[in-house]
Amino acid sequence: MTAPWRATILTLFPEMFPGPLGASLAGRALSTGLWSLEARDIRASATDKHRSVDDTPAGGGPGMVLRADVLAAAIDAAATAPALPRLLMSPRGRPLTQSRVRELAAGLGALIVCGRFEGIDQRVIEARALDEVSIGDYVLSGGEIAAFALIDACVRLLPGVMGKLASGADESFSDGLLEYPQYTRPQLFEGRPIPETLISGDHARVAAWRQAEAEALTRERRPDLWDLKARQKHPKNTTEG
Ligand code: SAH
Repeated sequence: MTAPWRATILTLFPEMFPGPLGASLAGRALSTGLWSLEARDIRASATDKHRSVDDTPAGGGPGMVLRADVLAAAIDAAATAPALPRLLMSPRGRPLTQSRVRELAAGLGALIVCGRFEGIDQRVIEARALDEVSIGDYVLSGGEIAAFALIDACVRLLPGVMGKLASGADESFSDGLLEYPQYTRPQLFEGRPIPETLISGDHARVAAWRQAEAEALTRERRPDLWDLKARQKHPKNTTEG
């Protein structure tokens, strides 16, 4: 058997883990060994007698910055062979996408650094080649919640975690489209029936209906995704002027 997908987290709050990752799909997969989780305390790598991990920003300004030396020592102490991709959760990072999630899930795992306060010293980002990953254009108070999101998205794609849905092939973003609407019983809810096509038993019609709904939704809600898809289909039609 191959080694389980591995998440190594560097955090000032290791007690937050596994947290929500201990429940439901991810939690079951964790307890059956489909993936493993290690939350390491950055503070364990502090060297002074106050165990300090942060200091005031060079150049002044509010807040505190995580020290490069402490964080580098924590990263080095967490090193594995073979090495895992080293990520830093950060609002300045490349926005996380489903294709990146798929790539990470197909790998060995990830070492994930969670920032706090005003962030971390730039030099450790460079010296340890941390790849900054953002989960959206808003600011959290720490990287832990962002790490939960990233790990959850990866773990559900691991073989065996979602059962029959293993590929996630039909989901939002899988084809550059948002997912079509879903329905289940009862047949009539507050006067609203399930769309007739879906109970027709005609698989081709169902598939066509879903495709059309997915396209309409994507065009309406996410013109950015829609344009991207159009450009991928017709690479010569790049936006001009
Ligand atoms: N001063 C920083 C924000 C620090 S927020 C700035 O303006 O860029 C504290 C920590 O929360 C960050 O170091 C990062 O680890 C995490 N964080 C905040 N927002 C995030 C986001 N959108 N995606 C990923 N991590 C985030």
